[in-house]
Order: sequence, then structure tokens, then C-alpha cells
Amino acid sequence: MPETQSVLIIDDDPVVAEIMETIFAGEVQITSCRNGPDGIAAAVAGAPDLILLDVRMPEMDGYEALKLLKSSSETEDIPVIFLTAKTETEDEFMGLELGAIDYISKPIIPRIVKVRIHNHLLLKRNRDQLANMSMIDGLTGIANRRRFDDYLDQEFRRGARSEYPVSLLMLDIDEFKIYNDSFGHQQGDECLKAVAAEIKSHSRRPSDLVARYGGEEFAVILPDTPLGAAQMLAEKIRAGVEGLQIAHPGAQATPYVTVSIGAACTENAGITALTDLIEVADKCVYRAKETGRNRVCKSLD
Ligand code: GH3
Ligand code: MG
Ligand code: MG
Repeated sequence: MPETQSVLIIDDDPVVAEIMETIFAGEVQITSCRNGPDGIAAAVAGAPDLILLDVRMPEMDGYEALKLLKSSSETEDIPVIFLTAKTETEDEFMGLELGAIDYISKPIIPRIVKVRIHNHLLLKRNRDQLANMSMIDGLTGIANRRRFDDYLDQEFRRGARSEYPVSLLMLDIDEFKIYNDSFGHQQGDECLKAVAAEIKSHSRRPSDLVARYGGEEFAVILPDTPLGAAQMLAEKIRAGVEGLQIAHPGAQATPYVTVSIGAACTENAGITALTDLIEVADKCVYRAKETGRNRVCKSLD
């Protein structure tokens, strides 16, 4: 069942919202605001799928509201339709040029408006699905490498700006080549899915990101997390994966599938760039492998 989509109406005339409620009765979630500033706040807070925006309003007109919506990264991607009694060509042109995707004139013809809005909502749903798919790893369903790169970049900057530590875990399945050789690639894939789900089950905060970094390598980005806490989480993940008891008779450390984990943090000395953080975490994985696998190694400084 796809999620119910939402439409925000910004119009000083309450009749418009009433008509929309009637047209979409229960199919679409309708929220309404009577002026520009309230509408912008509602758009930021509620991230609606579509905004219907009146042009003539006291305080702030629709053009001004649209400019503000388009100037903020939080609201710039929300499609906006002008809904107004101003039907002059120049007005329509100005609205579209400012970034509105459509222009509906009042008085509203309910049947027409319903179909138009329905079409725009369908486009929005498809766009969201594509955006989502482009960030998800097809096999495991967790974030993919592209999403990892974007998110680490974003959080690394935010951490520096807000002066909080960002930790990074890099995880690599132990002796996975042997696992594949013993059980075949398909069972290898099943193992990757199980390990991904286990790692994911340990991430508690909405800001944590679990990603597939490469073939049998995973990563966890932990914003606002010092190294000690990251290490504790890594230990839980390590124990959790071992606890799955996925048989791996060829492995040396234990008869089960295990992971080696490296933990690094922006608080570590010498980390000035995002690439340093990845490099240090990678080195820690290497150390975990060297010292026997199925363990967590954190950066030393
Ligand atoms: P180590 O403990 O040192 O990490 O040994 P390893 O065998 O895990 O390391 P190596 O990097 O040599 O091998 C990784 C293997 O992971 C090679 C490849 O067959 C397997 N692999 C990578 N991606 C996938 C995948 O998508 N599916 C499956 N089934 N196997 C994969
Ligand atoms: Mg590897
Ligand atoms: Mg490996």
C-alpha cells in the first residue's frame, strides 16, 4: 500500500481548502495555512508532496512565498502550483518563471483540478521512488556507496561546523572468498543480506547510516558520536554477526561467518579531510585482520 500523499494549501481564502477536502476526501492528506509565513513553516515541518499557492494574500504574496520556498534546500524540491484568480498572461508567466510547475485559475473547476493534481502527485511519487532507488543497494536493501559518499560528505562538514565528532565504522566479512568457494555465489549473496540486516539492526539513531561500501564491505556513519561509543557499537555488531551462527567451516577464527571492524573518529589526531577518516578506518580493519579477524580495532592516537 503506497503511503498517502500530502498537499499543503497556502491561501487566505478558506474555501479553497474546503473544496480540496471534498475533492480528495481521504485520498490525499490536506493541510492548509492562511498566509505565506505560516505556509513556509508548514512546508519545512511537513515536507508535503505538493503545494497549492495563492498569489494575492496579505503580508506576503505568493510570488514572494515561492521565492523563499525555492531558496531553501529543505523546500526547493517540493512542486508548487499557483492557484489564483489572477489570470493575466504576465502573472502566469511570472509564476512559472519563478519555478511553479503549473498554474490553475480560479474559480476552480473541481473535476479538472482533481485530474491535474492527481497527475502531479503521480509524477512526484515516481520521482521519489527513483531518487530512493538510486541510493539503495539492490541486494541488501541498505544504503549504497553513492548514498554513503554523499552522507559522509554532508556529516563531515556538519560535524566540523557544529563541533561534534563523527565516527566511522568500516566492516569487512572474514574470509568471504572461501565462503563463496564453499557454498556458491548465491548463498554468498544470502549471507551478505543477513549480515547487512544484522548491522542495520544495531543502528538506533535516525542519523546513523548503514551502507554497503563494496562487495563484502560495509560502513556505518555515526554523527555526533565519539570514538568510545562507536567502538562499543562496533563490538555489539561484531558479536551480533557471530551470533547469527552462519556456518563457515573454512574459516580459521570461528566456524561461523564473522566480521572485522575498524573504528575511526574525526577527533583522532591528523584527521582533517574526509579521506583521512576513511583511510584510518581502513587501516584499523587491516589491523583487525592481521591480529586474528572477528575483532574491532579502533584508531590509536
Ligand atoms: P579477508 O578475511 O581478508 O577479508 O578475506 P576475504 O576472502 O573476505 O577477502 P577478499 O577481499 O579476498 O575476498 C572478498 C570476496 O567477496 C571476493 C568475492 O568473491 C566476494 N564478493 C564480493 N562481492 C560479492 C557479492 O556481491 N556477492 C558474493 N556472493 N560475493 C561477493
Ligand atoms: Mg574485502
Ligand atoms: Mg573480507
